[in-house]
Amino acid sequence: ILTVSGVRKDYGRTTALAPVSLELYPGELVVLTGPSGSGKSTLLMIAGGWETPDDGEVKPHPPLPDVRMAEQPWEHLGVVPQSISLLDELTIEDNLAFAARRTGDADVAGLLAALDLTHLAGRLPGETSRGEQQRAAVGRALAAGASLVLADEPTSHQDRRRGALVLDVLRAAADRGASVLIASHDPVAIGRADREITLG
Ligand code: ATP
Ligand code: MG
Repeated sequence: ILTVSGVRKDYGRTTALAPVSLELYPGELVVLTGPSGSGKSTLLMIAGGWETPDDGEVKPHPPLPDVRMAEQPWEHLGVVPQSISLLDELTIEDNLAFAARRTGDADVAGLLAALDLTHLAGRLPGETSRGEQQRAAVGRALAAGASLVLADEPTSHQDRRRGALVLDVLRAAADRGASVLIASHDPVAIGRADREITLG
């Protein structure tokens, strides 16, 4: 679904990402590991099309006639940024529903339940904890049935039980055919992945 070839990124004299190549296929959960500062977040940003690499290329499949990352060919892109960003004016439930607005059949209630958020559905993000916001961000990324899911340390604010819930829903997304790429140091995440790619 995505080919990354020889992608490199510098910020001034800082090497943010040393050249990396990888291939992502439908139906797999891949975990991106590597020390802090090795470029995991940078690679996810480049893969999602928000950052442009200094070298190399990111090729979506199927290819576009006019390859512009702004027009992703995959049905939907679901993202969990390292800095969780929910829509502050919408309740937790509406954050998921808003993401799913173009796919009428989204199971928002099922996702809320799977992420232990049902009791918080009517709250605003500002009235919830960081971990709860992070689970909501995971739910939002999955609500539209994305075919490519990029998640940056999606269990970093979770306890063991809720971290497992997050990984369960990401695993389920892969099992229904999505490509899921997550940056994580979590051994549980690594254990649930089909493959591990290490940077640095
Ligand atoms: P962590 O595990 O701490 O999240 P990471 O592997 O995700 O780390 P990145 O956030 O991708 O690492 O950063 C890679 C390198 O690029 C770091 O050395 C970082 O300081 C640098 N960097 C990232 N963004 C910028 C920026 N906007 N300007 C300058 N340097 C940056
Ligand atoms: Mg990071």
